[in-house]
Amino acid sequence: MSTLPTDHAAATPPVGVTPSLLSYPLGEQLPASGSAVEVAPGVFWLRMGLHFALNHINLWLLRDRMPHPSQAGVMQEGWTAVDCGIDNPATRAAWLQVEEQVLKGLPILRVLVTHMHPDHMGMAHWLCERWQAPLWMSTSEYQSAMLACTGLSNFGGDPTVQFFAAHGWNKAEDLAVVKSRVGYYPSMVPKIPGAFVRLMAGHQVRIGDRVWACISGFGHSPEHMALHDAESQLLISGDMLLPSISTNVSVYAMEPDGNPLQLFLDSLDKMAHLPNETLILPSHGRPFKGARARISQLRAHHDERLSELLEACRTQALSAHDALPLIFRRALDVHQTTFAMGEAVAHLNMLWLAGRLLRQRDAEGIYRFSATQSSAKPMGA
Ligand SMILES: [Zn+2]
Repeated sequence: MSTLPTDHAAATPPVGVTPSLLSYPLGEQLPASGSAVEVAPGVFWLRMGLHFALNHINLWLLRDRMPHPSQAGVMQEGWTAVDCGIDNPATRAAWLQVEEQVLKGLPILRVLVTHMHPDHMGMAHWLCERWQAPLWMSTSEYQSAMLACTGLSNFGGDPTVQFFAAHGWNKAEDLAVVKSRVGYYPSMVPKIPGAFVRLMAGHQVRIGDRVWACISGFGHSPEHMALHDAESQLLISGDMLLPSISTNVSVYAMEPDGNPLQLFLDSLDKMAHLPNETLILPSHGRPFKGARARISQLRAHHDERLSELLEACRTQALSAHDALPLIFRRALDVHQTTFAMGEAVAHLNMLWLAGRLLRQRDAEGIYRFSATQSSAKPMGA
């Protein structure tokens, strides 16, 4: 899953920032299943279901033309699909409906995936096979998807259990569930196309009449690619910039000392220069304008969490599991706790790696974070 809708995420914007700074030019309009809404000339918005608390993903169809594979000098009209939905019967049915109602008899010429998470990647194999279309994505995302497909993922199994236990989550029945989740990724992404075309930061990708610049993003997934058409002021932001929930930023078992929150915040810098008029096409929620305002909200949101954690760690050394109620102010089920733990460690690691918190393993092998002398100055100072 890509993002965890959290209490702290969006319903209440941080103090001092009014939600009206974001605007939604398409109003309440949503594409019905299997149909599309044209958001800019040749750019179509599709919406497909997800069986999570986060119940939908936005996909994009871009009018395209590419050299015909077997007729030299002939250009073929068609589409580029951006992101795919998870692989299940409902998504397959929705894609078949799109084929009838939206594609206008033209083929999908290319499948471009922003990142490897199941809701974005699941149907890539099916679409690529069905249309004999190449897959375009970044190398890190492609390779991570290959690995996760084998069950060796960050979502379950022994390494994940050990990682959570070391961060204070020790309830045996919960960890049994986590252990059994080795099939979680392959259940939604059963297969990965056998080859891909590499996207890299700064690449310019011509899709139909538009040229999109790749903007890499880190902290949410290994090497997320957003697409920016500067001329038309459009940004396909994937999961890196969302209007109403905060992007999930987690530390995972494979890289336990990682600093994804710092990476995420640094990645937002790459989008902070975008004019406020830019229409942002996010993977979840509605298309919106107000990139700068949204980025300020997200920064303020994370700053607030970091300050609260730092404050709490002054009174007593906390494990990530101890910190959950500070960050998530509601009951979490096991599934939500896995994402919440990853987020809690991301915040604690950022403070630890910045020298604001000290990390020590206690007698039971649990990491506990306590405030250091140098943490006296306020966050953001
Ligand atoms: Zn994602």
